[in-house]
Amino acid sequence: MAHEGDSAWEGLGLHAYDTVVGRLAGFRPREGQRAMAQEVARALSRCELGEPNGERLDDPARAIAVVQAGTGVGKSAAYIAVGAAIAKARSSRLLISTSTIALQSQLMEKDLPAIAAASPESFTFALAKGRGRYVCKDKLLRHALIETASQDLLDFGEEPPAPATGAAALAQEQRVSFYRRLVDAIGAGWDGDRDTLDTPPAPEDWIPVAAERHTCTVKACPQFDDCAYYRARRRLADVDVIVANHDLLLASVNARVLPELSDCLLIVDEAHHLPKKAVDQFAASMDLTRLRWLDKVPKALSQVSSELSVTLPDAIEPAASELRAALAELARLLMDNVHADGLAADGVHRLGEVEVHELLGEPLRVVSVHAATLMDAANKLATELRARMRDNPGSTRLTALFAALGGFVPHLSAAREASESLLAQGEAARRTAKWCSFDTDGTYIGIRLHACPILPGDLLRHHLWSRVRGAVLTSATITSCGNFGFFLREGGLSGDPDVTTTAVQSPFDYARQGAIVVRQTKASPKELAAFNAEVAQLLAQEIAQLKQGGGLALFTSRRHMEQAVEAVGALDATLRERVLVQGARPRGALVAEHARRVQAGQPSVIMGLASFGEGLDLPGDLCRELWITKLPFGSPDDPVGEARAEFVEASGGNAFADLVVPETGVRLLQWTGRGIRTETDTARITIFDRRITEQAYGRRILAGLPPYPVEVVKSD
Ligand code: SF4
Repeated sequence: MAHEGDSAWEGLGLHAYDTVVGRLAGFRPREGQRAMAQEVARALSRCELGEPNGERLDDPARAIAVVQAGTGVGKSAAYIAVGAAIAKARSSRLLISTSTIALQSQLMEKDLPAIAAASPESFTFALAKGRGRYVCKDKLLRHALIETASQDLLDFGEEPPAPATGAAALAQEQRVSFYRRLVDAIGAGWDGDRDTLDTPPAPEDWIPVAAERHTCTVKACPQFDDCAYYRARRRLADVDVIVANHDLLLASVNARVLPELSDCLLIVDEAHHLPKKAVDQFAASMDLTRLRWLDKVPKALSQVSSELSVTLPDAIEPAASELRAALAELARLLMDNVHADGLAADGVHRLGEVEVHELLGEPLRVVSVHAATLMDAANKLATELRARMRDNPGSTRLTALFAALGGFVPHLSAAREASESLLAQGEAARRTAKWCSFDTDGTYIGIRLHACPILPGDLLRHHLWSRVRGAVLTSATITSCGNFGFFLREGGLSGDPDVTTTAVQSPFDYARQGAIVVRQTKASPKELAAFNAEVAQLLAQEIAQLKQGGGLALFTSRRHMEQAVEAVGALDATLRERVLVQGARPRGALVAEHARRVQAGQPSVIMGLASFGEGLDLPGDLCRELWITKLPFGSPDDPVGEARAEFVEASGGNAFADLVVPETGVRLLQWTGRGIRTETDTARITIFDRRITEQAYGRRILAGLPPYPVEVVKSD
């Protein structure tokens, strides 16, 4: 139902946008950006928020706009200017979720300050981070005070085991001294955010003192008033605009970290990442080999229960030992039947239903039962501890006992969730990918079992969209093969009557600024060895012809990238020097060196894998030539991808047409997007994979790219 304030809010949002454009130096009106501003204004005005008059709305008005905004539209200015103004007018808040740190930094450091200053009504903003980015002062003080960091009752789950001799003792001493420096830093005004430390701490040093939900006693904690995490949360309560990431957005749905979604306006930028993030968020996994935490569980439960005079079932000790035996048995079965069966030392192996139930079923059931028994005991003690802490606020002993329980609860919870998901049968099993993984560290082999839901649309519909009233989802790469269908399905928005889709065109003149050259090869891309060798040769020749300016070559496999590097060196040893390879140095340093060379008039080429295909920003001369060595199909041995393909086929679909081609279309759209970053850039995009014009699916993918002129160059 439309609200009488709708058009007023829309008008106010657009007025804010026009004012910002008029006031910001260097800004000029852009047709696409204003079209996007209109979409944002419409969606954020036409939804009903909260519970007016304290009454729950049965059927609140919702509006979700999916906006593909091509590169160069300037989408962040459109959604910030409009969204912040409407949120303020509606006494609500604007929540912006991003996928990458790069975009978060751009929003926090550049866009938000500039737009807040230029808006008709200024607004405040803050960055929301996950709890684990902040130090837990309570844990820190305990760790800093332990002279030798000896492993006592209060120290759980912090691998590896530490016999305090020799190098291990030295490492412990260094760690304790690091914690003492952190205590001093707090005294000197450090805000407790790990990102503001001069040197990022090593994970093994940070994790024991990081804030964490299960060990946090909240208001009962003696450090609560001075807690970095809760201080940051209190700040969030006062600002108009909150920036978060997709992980935090999804994790906080039931955890009340961010504002209630039914009560705020949501922008999801880099929205094409949301489905994958949803799958990751609901994945479960358990470690079968690092089990030191489990040895201490019975002693900890018994000590806490005796201090509280709470009786626990006698079955605690046997439950812990049977759980340990079952986890070890699972590891043994996987070593004997999977690892020994030709799997490389490190790698993943997808588990079929027969394997799960016939080979692993019995120990999995034991894990599920005993993990639940121990969880129940821990929860019973935690409930009693909470009650005692309410009566004795600030008791360091009670909070220490609570933290000790919380140290192993995540392990138990992971074991229970993973075993239950792995044991799922029937329809639930069809919607779950199951696999094991091996990772080797010296002679030690780590083994994990995993289970993960494969339909992100179901997850998002259930957990996110059921709560959201007004949202804009945007990205430069939402459509695939020219339509929104794939994204809507994956994003859980298919068939939702409150969803609209809009494609806002980029201001770039692709027909003039760029071109696609399809270089045909003699070898078919299916003849992998011959194809890779031929492409490596062709690419080396193209790099040899580059006289100045930058190039970017993208690969689907590291092996092929290395082969191309060798081919360049074989052609001319000095030519090799103009190639900068992903992984050879940190990404920032690599791009800086590339820019330095290009600015000095030297040719320079970056070679990279899929992550460079999406995140790299090489404007102007930094990317005159873009080489795409092969169509970026997903990895064939990815267990989640395999399970998804099976599900589509079993549901009567065609996995290749319905899943593989659209996914590849989105990826290629991202990869080709590296070429033209501004209205003055020009770039030639060479695709060495002839399937893009020869196969019907290739032409489908090609049709979804911006309107570059396409030239086919036949092999000699
Ligand atoms: S309130 Fe929680 S996170 Fe903060 S210091 Fe206390 S236990 Fe740690």
